[in-house]
Amino acid sequence: MNIHEYQGKSILQVYGVPVQEGFIAENAEQAKVVAEELQKKFGTEIFVIKAQIHAGGRGKGGGVKIARSPAEAADVASRMIGMTLVTHQTGPAGKIVHKVLVAQDVYYKGESDIREFYMSILLDRKKAKYVIMYSTEGGMDIEEVADKNPGAIFTEEIDPGVGLQDFQLRTIAFNLGLKGKAFKEMLSFVKGMWDAYISSDASLMEINPLLKTSDDRILAVDCKVTLDDNSLFRHPELAAMRDLNEEDPTEVEATDNNLNYVKLDGDVGCMVNGAGLAMATMDLIQLSGGRPANFLDVGGGANARTVESGFRIILKDPNVKAILVNIFGGIVRCDRVAAGIVEAYKTIGNISVPVIVRLQGTNADEAKELIEASGLKVIAATTFTDAAAKVRNALN
Ligand code: GDP
Ligand code: MN
Repeated sequence: MNIHEYQGKSILQVYGVPVQEGFIAENAEQAKVVAEELQKKFGTEIFVIKAQIHAGGRGKGGGVKIARSPAEAADVASRMIGMTLVTHQTGPAGKIVHKVLVAQDVYYKGESDIREFYMSILLDRKKAKYVIMYSTEGGMDIEEVADKNPGAIFTEEIDPGVGLQDFQLRTIAFNLGLKGKAFKEMLSFVKGMWDAYISSDASLMEINPLLKTSDDRILAVDCKVTLDDNSLFRHPELAAMRDLNEEDPTEVEATDNNLNYVKLDGDVGCMVNGAGLAMATMDLIQLSGGRPANFLDVGGGANARTVESGFRIILKDPNVKAILVNIFGGIVRCDRVAAGIVEAYKTIGNISVPVIVRLQGTNADEAKELIEASGLKVIAATTFTDAAAKVRNALN
């Protein structure tokens, strides 16, 4: 699960990591109130208004703007909230801005002595280690740095059994070219960031830019966090950070129905039980000349209700020209799935796209009888290749 910048910063603060201070606002009036609050609390004179969407590249896309008074902050916020922000990470459709972070300007006292770094903590699954990746070239895309100036990227590997060691902190601060107060502040920054990463079961924590201010403070200016979905059950306060506005509505509906659905951009909807068979089915569709419209695993306990909601979800996608149901009955009983298909046809009404059904395994004969007796115009397939041919015919 991804969270917003302001939420990531709030996690960092719990672990004593200094961040660019700011408050969230959902409308212009709130933006003015919180800007005044920043003024009172921190003496802030220049404000940065930052669109909160789950995508980076906001700066270049117009989602980060300066304001010089609370009134101007309100004005900037009123224009930013509700706008569709397009960045290289949102795709051409962009994302609607629902909230802005009104923050203190931290690039004060001119450009001299200010330095922007990059820092992230992630998991290297191959090495079975954590990695702190950091660079002297912050503020720009790390992919770009990797491409043009790979020597400017450093990594520090962390053995999960041993944890982050003090000498590694010093290596990082040294490689970033820091001295004196900034050096010391970097040590505690990285230590705090590490604690935040581990304690929140994050899979990624990325700070870009990580700023050294002109007076040698070390601050997180941006913060991107991905939390491990499988750990959310033990972090109710983090699970509550989920923002449904940022997720594909069909995927949200699927999760609510215990279905494992990922939208893709092809034209053949597929409903399959088991992730392995679902992957194989997608390959099959591709080989037969079609393109899968989705990945959908109805799971091991597929029944009439899950099949019906699966159909509803697949049919929400206007690109779908045919549906392939490929079920192998092991624990799942084919007759239950067949009953689900019949039920879905009845309750959803006019399913106009051709539906190719392959039901094999436990109670496949009963399933066949059920479908035949229903008089539905579904296309029955027996083998994998038979199913592929029938999908191809349906598309033409
Ligand atoms: P991103 O573009 O989505 O990664 O958003 P960031 O939070 O990284 O902000 C983008 C850029 O805005 C940064 O690289 C900075 O150059 C700029 N920025 C962020 N905070 C401030 C600030 O306090 N003052 C000024 N002048 N610029 C800022
Ligand atoms: Mn950034």
